[in-house]
Amino acid sequence: MADKDMRICIIGGGPAGLSAGMYLEQKGYENYTILERLDRVGGKCWSPTYNGKRYEMGAIMGVPSYYAVHDVEEFCGITHDGPKLNRNYKDKNGKVIEPFEPKKNILKIPRLLKMKKQLKEFGELLETKYYGYDINGHRGVAEGRYEGFACTPDREPVSGENPNLKDLALPFKEFCRINGVDLVQDVWIGPFTAFGYGYFDEIPAGYVLKYLDFQTTMNFVKVNLWTWEQGTQYIWECLDAKLKNHARLNSHIEKVERKDGKVYVTVNGVVEEYDKIIVTAPLYIPNKRYDGQVGMVDYFDTRDDEMELFSKIDYERYDVQAVLTKPEDHPEISYYVFDNMTKERLGHLMVYYRRWKETVDQVITTYALRKHKDTLEIPYEEVRKTVQDDLKTMGNPASEVINEWSVYYFPHVFSADYAAGWYDKVEAMQGKYDTYYAGEIMAFGDMDETAEYSRELVERFF
Ligand SMILES: Cc1cc2nc3c(=O)[nH]c(=O)nc-3n(C[C@H](O)[C@H](O)[C@H](O)COP(=O)(O)OP(=O)(O)OC[C@H]3O[C@@H](n4cnc5c(N)ncnc54)[C@H](O)[C@@H]3O)c2cc1C
Repeated sequence: MADKDMRICIIGGGPAGLSAGMYLEQKGYENYTILERLDRVGGKCWSPTYNGKRYEMGAIMGVPSYYAVHDVEEFCGITHDGPKLNRNYKDKNGKVIEPFEPKKNILKIPRLLKMKKQLKEFGELLETKYYGYDINGHRGVAEGRYEGFACTPDREPVSGENPNLKDLALPFKEFCRINGVDLVQDVWIGPFTAFGYGYFDEIPAGYVLKYLDFQTTMNFVKVNLWTWEQGTQYIWECLDAKLKNHARLNSHIEKVERKDGKVYVTVNGVVEEYDKIIVTAPLYIPNKRYDGQVGMVDYFDTRDDEMELFSKIDYERYDVQAVLTKPEDHPEISYYVFDNMTKERLGHLMVYYRRWKETVDQVITTYALRKHKDTLEIPYEEVRKTVQDDLKTMGNPASEVINEWSVYYFPHVFSADYAAGWYDKVEAMQGKYDTYYAGEIMAFGDMDETAEYSRELVERFF
């Protein structure tokens, strides 16, 4: 059997799984099958329709350095044609503020000037002391190396030594402190904590900076962002339609057994035989979930090394509600509430999003976190209510909730495991059991990092 004929099973029809299919196909592997448990593709890119317009329950935006997403756009002949994003800020009492505008914050001018200075220093530090920090994935970081592909459109292979990269295992707050740039957290927090990726005292800097590299953060600051008129799900629907093998929806995988160099997948009661399997679905979910989603370790013939490593994974409890308001209560723009992005205000509304510029009959989506590493999970219903109370405080009360979910979001490991080389151990297992691990945990929980990781996986192993 020629290599290119190998039968490859891909679990998950989200950005990671579908782009794995695309890159495999482009490399001449056409014998792949994508199994998706839901009745739709896109995963956390979920853009339902209300009143003829799509709104976002999951991913919303991209930046110009989303090269893998751009590959998908080119493959499908589509582009980022969505509404321009804009936002404003409120304090926790609902008062509109302009936190970065010196003229509106006379007393804070010294802090703002200091922040500006630290921002410049930080940009320089990242380019020099932390050279190689922004490469997709975490290979070698714990050993003070970088290894992967450059963050440029042509993505040439790069590798080298940089012992300073070991600092990326530290929680971002500590990373900023040792580098004397604490105030840059004021800038990074918006697109990080408000976007559900956790708090800076718990999340390793590696995750924060691989997603929010300096350039990407500046794109957020300048609101130089991409959106898609038909929603981010549309990108993946187009890709699915274009692929030679469309994702098989409603696939319930009961069992995966790996023996004698073959992979046996029991799906909807039928055993199918493959040569290799790529897992883009969750590897491990530490608790029972309301949506019945489980980790790979629950349906695979999981080996001891897989179990040992994957059981270190935690994730964020990130809740989204889609609400309607009365026309007179409709927000005129999206709002960020920085006061609510602290762990003391866990469970409060951090951001609410208004997608279309012109209409007041549109859906507003709200975002809140329900757990910090050191706390118990706040019950879903409690946060749901807190967020609705917060909307009233903001002056934009909801009249109806039309959609809601609590997402399995941003799987990651914490600093001790990151520093102990969790990623290199998992990378060393790639292919060992005819199994490859991809999806959010392997790089970062955004559309591009996951699609890019799939690109690199195909490049490295197929
Ligand atoms: C509220 C929210 C806002 C976000 N905002 C942004 C943003 O603005 N920009 C951005 O780039 N990213 C954003 N993201 C993150 C982005 O959506 C995800 O990082 C990305 O979708 C991850 O892709 P993935 O394929 O790894 O995982 P997923 O999108 O989670 O896809 C995994 C797929 O696997 C399927 N699956 C799970 N278990 C099984 C199983 N046992 N068998 C078969 N299939 C299975 C799932 O149903 C799903 O379709 C956001 C996400 C959310 C929820």
